[in-house]
Amino acid sequence: MTGHPPLTHPAYGRVRQVTPYAAVLLARNPSPMTLEGTNTWLLGDSDRLVVVDPGPHDAEHLDEVAASGRIEWILLTHGHADHSAGARRLHELTGAPVRALDPAHRYGDEGLAEGDAVHAGGVTVMVLGTPGHTSDSLSFIADDGQYRAVLTGDTILGRGTTVVAHPDGVLADYLDSLRRLRDLGDLTVLPGHGPELPAARAVAEQYLAHRAERLAQVREAVDRLGPDASAQQIVEDVYADVDRAVWPAAELSVRAQLDYLRTPR
Ligand SMILES: [Zn+2]
Repeated sequence: MTGHPPLTHPAYGRVRQVTPYAAVLLARNPSPMTLEGTNTWLLGDSDRLVVVDPGPHDAEHLDEVAASGRIEWILLTHGHADHSAGARRLHELTGAPVRALDPAHRYGDEGLAEGDAVHAGGVTVMVLGTPGHTSDSLSFIADDGQYRAVLTGDTILGRGTTVVAHPDGVLADYLDSLRRLRDLGDLTVLPGHGPELPAARAVAEQYLAHRAERLAQVREAVDRLGPDASAQQIVEDVYADVDRAVWPAAELSVRAQLDYLRTPR
């Protein structure tokens, strides 16, 4: 969730080159939860591409993605509809298999999981399991032999913070995933929403600090409001500073935090 104003004017329908082998096409689904919209990433060269996250089922957007080059693979960072709903149509337009951790989102024979590697257009995409936002969240390290970047889906966004979507998303998993991303060092972050960021380490550290702060606030709120306080009451108390449009998502994160605080570890 965010609460920050948009940084850049959306450029729907325009491919923007971000690194030597990574370009982005912004989907037309802006909202308080999706920032300017979903980033559909194109990795490789125009002869052979890997698409990460086709985005929503929007014919115009998917036609633009399909026209951007020869698509060999379609990968999903996770199954939320704003990333995956267009996958089937893009598969039909291009014939490229859709690979995801969750079998429900696959088209073709191959899945996608920690340790897998996908190659196209001179780029290798290595898969990291980064559950927490959802149980099926993956991140992808892209490498052309000279320049490495990490695609983080909704695990790290270009702005603001993300939701831990309880009960599928689990805070302890999410913190472990942030530590994995922090340990990658200064790779460029190519997020599922919002602008790219210069260094995974720095943003993962900010996310970890933010999570620790929110957890302390939730713990204090429970102490103050009593053990029977509802998640909604805690949201009103702890998330008073964020846009009300994202309070339903904040409630999921609060439930994930309560679950974390109540689990012995
Ligand atoms: Zn998501």
